[in-house]
Amino acid sequence: TYVIAQPCVDVLDKSCIDECPVDCIYEGARMLYIHPDECVDCGACEPVCPVEAIYYGDDLPQEWNDFAEASAEFFDGL
Ligand code: SF4
Repeated sequence: TYVIAQPCVDVLDKSCIDECPVDCIYEGARMLYIHPDECVDCGACEPVCPVEAIYYGDDLPQEWNDFAEASAEFFDGL
């Protein structure tokens, strides 16, 4: 799955939402989240993010590893 990380916090540009073919990007209070089970790994969202907040999971910079977990928790809580 793709993961949205720190740069999205308090930005929520939402360009990615328009690109996602399966509508799996959801809005939280301070950032957007990609649903890990719904994402089809198409990569369309990544290049349109103006703050480069979106990464393929395996490519997520280590300092932002927590964001994969935070995303899972966000959807557990819905
Ligand atoms: Fe949506 Fe594709 Fe981005 Fe996954 S990789 S969140 S399916 S646009």
